[in-house]
Amino acid sequence: MTNEALSVFDIFKIGVGPSSSHTLGPWRAAQRFVSSLIEKGQLTSVVSLKILLYGSLAKTGKGHGTDIAVQLGLCSEDPVTFAVNDIDARMHDIASMKKIILGGKSEVDFDPREDIEFLISETLPYHPNALSFLVKLQNGDSFAETYYSIGGGFVVKEGETSLKQTMVLPFPINTSSDLLHWCLKTGLAIHEVVMENESAWRSEKETKEGLLKIWQVMRDCTYRGCHTTGVLPGGLNVKRRAADLNKKLLKGKTYSSHDEWVKTIQQGGNSFQYILDWVSCFALAVNEENASFGRVVTAPTNGAAGVIPAVLQYYIIFTENVTEEKIIQFLLTASEIGCIFKKGATISAAMGGCQAEIGVSSSMAAAALTEALGGTQRQALMAAEIAMEHHLGMTCDPIAGLVQVPCIERNTMGAIKAITASQLALQSSPDYAKVSLDAVVETMWETALDMNSKYKETAEGGLAVNIPLSLSEC
Ligand code: SF4
Repeated sequence: MTNEALSVFDIFKIGVGPSSSHTLGPWRAAQRFVSSLIEKGQLTSVVSLKILLYGSLAKTGKGHGTDIAVQLGLCSEDPVTFAVNDIDARMHDIASMKKIILGGKSEVDFDPREDIEFLISETLPYHPNALSFLVKLQNGDSFAETYYSIGGGFVVKEGETSLKQTMVLPFPINTSSDLLHWCLKTGLAIHEVVMENESAWRSEKETKEGLLKIWQVMRDCTYRGCHTTGVLPGGLNVKRRAADLNKKLLKGKTYSSHDEWVKTIQQGGNSFQYILDWVSCFALAVNEENASFGRVVTAPTNGAAGVIPAVLQYYIIFTENVTEEKIIQFLLTASEIGCIFKKGATISAAMGGCQAEIGVSSSMAAAALTEALGGTQRQALMAAEIAMEHHLGMTCDPIAGLVQVPCIERNTMGAIKAITASQLALQSSPDYAKVSLDAVVETMWETALDMNSKYKETAEGGLAVNIPLSLSEC
């Protein structure tokens, strides 16, 4: 159990796919390394540079774009703003010229094929996702820094004990019992308690603006994914399906904007099958974008980025009177559940398998939807518990180390389970619940500790080895 103060913007982060731990985290680590060089006054003294990738970053880093992320980070590009369509061209430039512009300022000889090493048989003890930057300076000195990508885009530098922040929050929360205690003591809803805490960092206005920006990126990503055809990159030849499904469900109807698209979807009715198809379509769309190095939001990770947008789109499109304020509330409540899992267990698949990604996102979405639909705080926590209870033990076994199979479909399952969990909680009395959210957090962590390491984002177990697909065969 950690006591760090986490904000909604630690859980929801705008970035680039396909993986928060293997793409966003290493990207941030490379940026931090460049900042460290600048602080030391050594940026322009670097004559050579090597990057060592360990453990899970080595085993699935190619498929997850870790090598691409570190190069862009070393160039001081930012994952929030870098034009994703320029990634291929930039990678081509670096590889063909064998030079990288460190910090966007200092040209250094660099051949990605030689200077990024995937050490697949080496793992550092602190965390399976480790990377080291080694530099030689003009005066002959050399030094190295090691970083750990601990899930959800969070990064810790070697020597830092944790992410712990000194922020004092009005309502400190480590567990769901803490959260419920504050709700009952103050009479506030979950999203209100979270907003009070967020106000320790910034004004309420800024938090709301930031969350609407998060929603806009989620919404744009869903819309782009629903209108982009083709095959996903990486060599598995996975066909994109969201656009075909979108077309099929809309039966040739035309529209020219996102708002018109939403209205067209609503005109199709609200039968069970229709809604089910749309929730799947939204989740597929986001994760196909994620697999294509598109701009997505960690929720709480990139691999699970589709669950919350899919459930939120379901809430907006298929229920009534949803306002921007309610979207903000949804994201606030979802984030607190993500924080509780991060503090009490993990949101890193390299530590806990897919239960830590899809399971947590489903749990977050279930709580948020339940509160949004009028459930009590206890019903919202019950929904979060139900959603995770039925993801316990889920392994991470991406074929060819790509965040595609089973990952993309898993987001549809996580979204549907969230809606089902929410409905179950709304129809139940928490008085009769046998399992608390805190008990399921603890169980998830114990399951993570017991899980064989081959099921933790290594592509060495499960579907990753039992399906005879390899990059060379595709
Ligand atoms: S199997 Fe799950 S945890 Fe593993 S990469 Fe895919 S979505 Fe992420």
